[in-house]
Amino acid sequence: MNNKTYNFSSGPSMLPIEVMNQAKKEFQNWNNLGASILEISHRSKEFLKLITNSKKNLRNLLNIPKNYKILFCHGGARGQFAAVPMNLLKKNDKADYIYSGYWSKKAEEEAKKYCCTNVINTISLHDKKKYIIPMKQWKINNKSKYIHYCPNETIEGISIHEEPIFKNKYVIGDFSSTLLSRPIDINKYSLIYASAQKNLGTSGITIIIIKKELIKNSKQNVPSILNYKTMLEYNSIFNTPTNFSWYLSNLVFCWLKKKGGLKEIEKINIKKSNLLYKKIDSSNFYINNIKKENRSIMNVVFKLKNEKLNNIFLKESTLNNLYSLKNHKVAGGIRASIYNSMPIEGIKLLVKFMSYFEKKYKYE
Ligand SMILES: *Cc1c(COP(=O)(O)O)cnc(C)c1O
Repeated sequence: MNNKTYNFSSGPSMLPIEVMNQAKKEFQNWNNLGASILEISHRSKEFLKLITNSKKNLRNLLNIPKNYKILFCHGGARGQFAAVPMNLLKKNDKADYIYSGYWSKKAEEEAKKYCCTNVINTISLHDKKKYIIPMKQWKINNKSKYIHYCPNETIEGISIHEEPIFKNKYVIGDFSSTLLSRPIDINKYSLIYASAQKNLGTSGITIIIIKKELIKNSKQNVPSILNYKTMLEYNSIFNTPTNFSWYLSNLVFCWLKKKGGLKEIEKINIKKSNLLYKKIDSSNFYINNIKKENRSIMNVVFKLKNEKLNNIFLKESTLNNLYSLKNHKVAGGIRASIYNSMPIEGIKLLVKFMSYFEKKYKYE
């Protein structure tokens, strides 16, 4: 068949080939320094320039208004599960946590150590299909200081595509598996965070976009590396950052700009996910039980109607150059993570394999 492998890993996930090639080319000699990005000080003038450029590039891509700051932190999205309530709340303060799947649940379990959480379940069923209850029906608590939600549940492949409608309330979003996949109106959010290893580069760095007024509220007794005020004062290099991850993220930002920005990448992403969903829906051999309006464009999940075939599918897909299609064990089945860097050729090969597999095993 084909001998190029396509990597559907959920994170760390595939990187654009152009980014990999550039990183490879300048691995031992970055910026003509005669040294690798891995070997230089984060306080050197070249690295400081990278910091400035990366912020500028991200600001341009997402059209981030002036009254928002960008921080590059450690600790991944899970670090932010703790940092958000630690920075913004006092012990008896309340916060609304929207439940839509695994990651929003994990965020709430962590936050509960530092504040009173009010869990709002937004998952419902209609005609055996899962969907997200529309925002205007969410039972927001009057006294809560913020609303936390996850617009793309990476494991369940379910998405909240609506933009927040909540006024006079801080809105916090875990954008780990969706940031930079489409344009968003930053003004509708107070704080957005995302770990880089899904759609923004590789693991080791976490991006935070935060409204300036929230930083003022950061509490003193929060550990410095999680403290938004400290991170801002120190230009995100309070301690030594992961140079390489930061650099790779910046290469990804430059790559996206060259591709035409977020409007363009969104069109491609929609086209890619539509190809897969069309294949899944074309017969009852493959099953995805999420209503169309809440299907993820980044993580396409499905199962085989005949459950015994799931493992055979995974085994044979690997032999056909389709790598890492196994979903997280809490969900089971198949997941194709198709972030920005997955080319349409990868999707086409997967669709072709799915047709072949269906023909072969249809009568099992
Ligand atoms: C991957 C993921 C996380 C966990 O990220 P870490 O960097 O491992 O902490 C959290 N939330 C979402 C939505 C994710 O996709």
